[in-house]
Amino acid sequence: MKRVLVTGATGKTGSLVLQKLRDEPDEFEAIGLARSPIKAEELFDSKGFVIGDIKDKSSLNSAISGCEALVILTSAVPKMIAPPAQGQRPEFEFVPGGLPEEVDWLGQKNQIDAAKQAGVKHIVLVGSMGGTNPDHPLNRIGNGNILIWKRKAEQYLIDSGIDYTIIRAGGLLDKQGGVRQLLVGKDDALLNNPPDGIPTSIPRADVASVAVRALTEPNARNKAFDIISKPENAPDAVATSDFASLFEQTTAGIKDEVNS
Ligand code: NAP
Repeated sequence: MKRVLVTGATGKTGSLVLQKLRDEPDEFEAIGLARSPIKAEELFDSKGFVIGDIKDKSSLNSAISGCEALVILTSAVPKMIAPPAQGQRPEFEFVPGGLPEEVDWLGQKNQIDAAKQAGVKHIVLVGSMGGTNPDHPLNRIGNGNILIWKRKAEQYLIDSGIDYTIIRAGGLLDKQGGVRQLLVGKDDALLNNPPDGIPTSIPRADVASVAVRALTEPNARNKAFDIISKPENAPDAVATSDFASLFEQTTAGIKDEVNS
């Protein structure tokens, strides 16, 4: 049985990953890391949780001890400054201590360092498409440059020497998983030129399934890829169930060395 730590386990995708791991008790022993005991209690009755903060190395060290794998689902979360006036776009900011540099770079780096020190064999890191474009609108939110810091953490993970799977999701949907065809790519090609102009989005439940299957499929080791889904009722779509084949289409390294 594989002991796995999931960080961001009170988040929307992280909680799905934790639940899916717990649905396979013969395969996984899943521990959640949460900074909020209240959320851990509400979502999972606090069972199998360690309370800690990814900015606090000592709490990470105790959470990760004895784990074979780590799934990173922590992220800086922008907050709306105030409800927008009619016809205006809402504005967002990051709370002090919750800037992307602190969470998506230093916080992820802390986790990778703690994992290395604890002898963790595999890290699955869930992030975002768009990181090839420094002018991406997400970088302007709260002047946080969130995609730039996420990308830096990806490179740090690759350089750590620990086996990695980097999953860069398109726009996340709170929709049913397991009913769509998943498409993988690299270097934001799917974002910049989606096939048939389909929306560049994917259900959180599907991202969670990909993260869980990455823990057991050898083809997912040392791979970094973008991922979206075809719309649920696209005429030619076949729901993805063969994850080994999906991972076979993915490649190593932060970018496609062949085409770059
Ligand atoms: P989410 O719900 O925003 O969850 C983020 C998690 O990080 C929360 O559990 C939060 O804890 C935790 N966290 C933040 N700072 C922390 C700290 N200092 N210590 C410990 N935990 C901390 O995530 P999501 O919306 O499911 O997104 C998952 C990933 O996909 C993120 O990397 C996101 O950037 C990426 N993504 C999102 C979209 C999108 O459309 N939203 C698109 C593509 C990719 P609390 O629960 O206590 O706040």
